Amino acid sequence: MSLDDHRRLAAGMLERQPGLIFDLLLEHQQRHGAPTSAEVPGVPWCTCGKCRDMPTDRERKCCGQDPVHCVSLLPHFTQYCLDEGYLRIHRQYRENLTALGNG
Ligand SMILES: [Zn+2]
Ligand SMILES: [Zn+2]
Repeated sequence: MSLDDHRRLAAGMLERQPGLIFDLLLEHQQRHGAPTSAEVPGVPWCTCGKCRDMPTDRERKCCGQDPVHCVSLLPHFTQYCLDEGYLRIHRQYRENLTALGNG
């Protein structure tokens, strides 16, 4: 199998299973290392520089990547996480599950 075959295979897998991108990022990070949050301007718990402060610890979730590889920059993120249709489904799911209501 050539490198090109591998690339095509990887691209196809990501299309079918977009969540795999997080495994790739994790692998990349383990190989190249991520900056500590002290090196990145912004809130102290963030390493990607894209997070804003949140009122509770439970909401303080960073992707843990470096600024160049933040998940919010991925085309997958816009495609699968910010799409209005998906957002509606997830909101509905969350409301059903937590009974938190629309907030
Ligand atoms: Zn962050
Ligand atoms: Zn991020």
